[in-house]
Formats: sequence, structure tokens, C-alpha cells
Amino acid sequence: MLWEVALKNTVLYDEAIKHAEEAEADRQRLRRFLAMVAHDLRGPLTVVLGYTQVLRRQAGHMDPEAELRALTTIENAATQMQRLVVDLLDTARIGVGHFEIHPEHIDLMTVLRFVVEEQQATTTDHCIALEGPEHLEGAWDHDRISQLFTNLVSNAIKYSPRGGDISIEVSLEDSEVVTCVRDHGMGIPPERASQLFLPFTRVGQESLTKGSGLGLYIAKGIVDAHHGRIWVNSELGRGSVFCVALPRFYPV
Ligand code: ADP
Repeated sequence: MLWEVALKNTVLYDEAIKHAEEAEADRQRLRRFLAMVAHDLRGPLTVVLGYTQVLRRQAGHMDPEAELRALTTIENAATQMQRLVVDLLDTARIGVGHFEIHPEHIDLMTVLRFVVEEQQATTTDHCIALEGPEHLEGAWDHDRISQLFTNLVSNAIKYSPRGGDISIEVSLEDSEVVTCVRDHGMGIPPERASQLFLPFTRVGQESLTKGSGLGLYIAKGIVDAHHGRIWVNSELGRGSVFCVALPRFYPV
């Protein structure tokens, strides 16, 4: 039938347009990503080269304090580059489905207390509170769970530039543990919320904050590997709540 062929062609045409749009969005993300990697590596690399040249030129004649300051600056710059490279490796592993976790019996509250202590030490403008039971044990990958919540809490700090309260609320719901990180910062436009967990996605105020746009993608990779869920509720200008639901006893 002629009309059936016409209908099929219309559907194929719509699909082709959709694929082309998706491919263009991927290309744009890749371009932004390459620009970000080049930019984020060039800064610390320049620092490392500059300071090593100074150290070499003045070898044996440098004031010990100035020498120590130079070495600390080099170390910080190298750590910054290492962080980006580790994130890139995680991203690549998630992308090809080779992201492994090693679950063991751990106390989530102990991990979270450590994350709070570490993150609180980075800011005097925010007050981070942990609400939940004294102990909550389950089978999770210790380092990855720590990385996941470090990322969510450091984002809560980074995207609340005017400071304020940040809370981590933990509750046991049936056989899963739900942990929500709540801030009162800049929030996210609702139409962008679903894209946050894609790699290299940064929303709005890119110029105000530093970042690779990989953190939430890796966070989702960690949650998926634990058979959990991650989602966000946010109001622009009022703050965000990132929640993670993790099955308590993922088979070890
Ligand atoms: P990065 O922080 O390195 O840009 P992420 O993947 O951690 O990358 O976050 C992606 C984007 O999501 C951020 O650029 C920011 O726009 C937005 N975002 C993440 N967390 C928050 C938050 N707590 N409040 C507001 N925006 C956030």
C-alpha cells in the first residue's frame, strides 16, 4: 500500500533526524571534553615545568624554605593532573563495561563520618551534618562508596558558593539504604537534570567553578555497579538533593 510505504518513510526519516541530533550532541560533548582536558592539564603542567626549571637553575643555592614551597607546589599540580587522569580511566572503564567493584562488609556510617570530616576540613563557609543510625552495615566496595559520597559532598560545597548547611541523610528502606546529600546552593535548571549523569556534562556556571564534568558520570557508574539507583531533585537558586539507593546485601 502506498500510504503504508509513506508512513514507514516518515518514521525512518524521523529516526534519522533523531540519530543525527544525538550524534551532533555527542560530537559537541567530545569537543568540550577535549578542550577541558587540554585546559585542565596545561595549567598544572606549566606549573610543574616552571618550578622544575627554577629548581634546576638554582640547584644547591636555594633557600631551603623556598625550595620546600616549590616542591609542594609541584606536588599539588601533579596531584591535580593525577586526579583528572584517574577520572578519565574510570570513565573509559565505565564506557566499555569494565568497571569492577570489590564488595566487602562495611559500615556505611563510618565511611560517611570520614567523608564528612575530610570535606568539612576543606571549608569554613559550610556546615556539614550527618543524620542516620549509629551503624549501618552492608556489602559494598569501600573505596568506591567513599569516592561516590566524597564526590556528592564536594559538589554540594562547590555549587553552594555562598556557604550554608549541607546534610547527609541516611535511612533504611526495606532492603536498601537511601542516602541523600542536600545543599542550599545554586541548584540546577529542571530541563538539565536528566543530563547530569552523562559524561562531560556541566550545567550553567562553568566559568565560576572548576570541574571536568565526569564526577556524576562516575558516581552513576559506581551506583550501577552496586545495582543501585541515583537521582536528583533540584530547584534553581534554592539547592539540590542528590539521592542514592543501594541494595544492602549485594552478593559478595
Ligand atoms: P563537575 O563538578 O566536575 O563539573 P560533575 O559530573 O560532578 O562534574 O557535575 C556535573 C554538573 O552537574 C556540574 O558541572 C554542575 O553543573 C552540576 N552539579 C553537580 N552537583 C551539583 C549541585 N550540588 N548543585 C548544583 N549543580 C550541581
